[in-house]
Amino acid sequence: MGGLSSAAIREMARACGFELAGVARAEPLAERAWYHEWVAAGCAGEMRYLTDRRAEVRDDPRNLLASARTVVSVGKLYNTPWPYSTQFDADERGWISRYAWGEDYHQEMRRGLERLDAMVRQRSGVPLESKICVDTAPLLERSYAQAAGLGWIGKNTCLINQRSGSWFFLGELLVSIEVEPGGPPPDRCGTCTRCIDACPTGAIVPIGGLPHNTHTIDSRLCISYFTIELRGAVPEPFREGMGSHVFGCDICQDVCPWNRRAPVTTDPAYQPQHFAPPLAKLAALTEEEFRAMFRGTPVTRARYSGFLRNVAIAMGNRRLEQFRQPLERLAASSDPLVAEHARWGLQQLG
Ligand code: SF4
Ligand code: SF4
Repeated sequence: MGGLSSAAIREMARACGFELAGVARAEPLAERAWYHEWVAAGCAGEMRYLTDRRAEVRDDPRNLLASARTVVSVGKLYNTPWPYSTQFDADERGWISRYAWGEDYHQEMRRGLERLDAMVRQRSGVPLESKICVDTAPLLERSYAQAAGLGWIGKNTCLINQRSGSWFFLGELLVSIEVEPGGPPPDRCGTCTRCIDACPTGAIVPIGGLPHNTHTIDSRLCISYFTIELRGAVPEPFREGMGSHVFGCDICQDVCPWNRRAPVTTDPAYQPQHFAPPLAKLAALTEEEFRAMFRGTPVTRARYSGFLRNVAIAMGNRRLEQFRQPLERLAASSDPLVAEHARWGLQQLG
């Protein structure tokens, strides 16, 4: 035993800037079998990092740290007092997902986890091995967060904390000492179906056979996947449902009753650098300007070509005459992906 209680770990995590923290056993979870089914059913789309050999690594945290006994799961609040996409109506602007408004969270999460690691080492009084994981690590992090008691996984597949909602980045510290684990809180979705009803592309689908979860997201139907991860053309039947989303989608979190009174952070790292930027401005960006505008934020993950593709769809969906000229310019692009989506956008203008 390392002599640390889960309460002591939660207190240390709070001192390191994490609003949520808890402890789970570093052992395989029942969800891993379902995860393989989800991948086998094709629900991961083209996200190779979810389907290649890393899918097997996800089975057990000990594949990441052989001596791991405990998963310390932490959550960092990123919500800010700006409106939800469902409260915002400005046709000429594009919507960027809330998590991507500020600085890329990986660095900040890692710094916090490094501090926590140092504290745990000092306080445990025994030699220990540890490993920091921030969402790029192959680990079923929401499931471990649920097992650690941070919240339940809602029908929208987000981890939801009863008091604080779902606007959290998750991270983990694997440690080689044993700490008394928490347990999953009850599922408080109940009979609510708001996220399912609000999803414009019908991406939240039922699943069976899991102890705690009843629904999942089929990425191949999800706006977040289309606008961030997909490298090729967005299938036409889904373009209209994308509305003005140019990077990610928050609708299934925006409508969730548990986010109605979600707390906000004053951390300058997460304040919006470009809140709902004008679509015309985005359409006119050169590649260099795109990189400069979104440097250090998650938006660069969409890449320039994919981002302009998204902007063209959003302009088409808005059907504003003022977008005809920028769409004609994009339709003349040497990038066939951008040109094709801009032609589609022009068709919507009629
Ligand atoms: S992120 Fe958007 S498209 Fe994806 S499941 Fe949620 S509401 Fe649907
Ligand atoms: S909107 Fe309702 S069903 Fe969906 S995650 Fe929130 S509480 Fe659960």
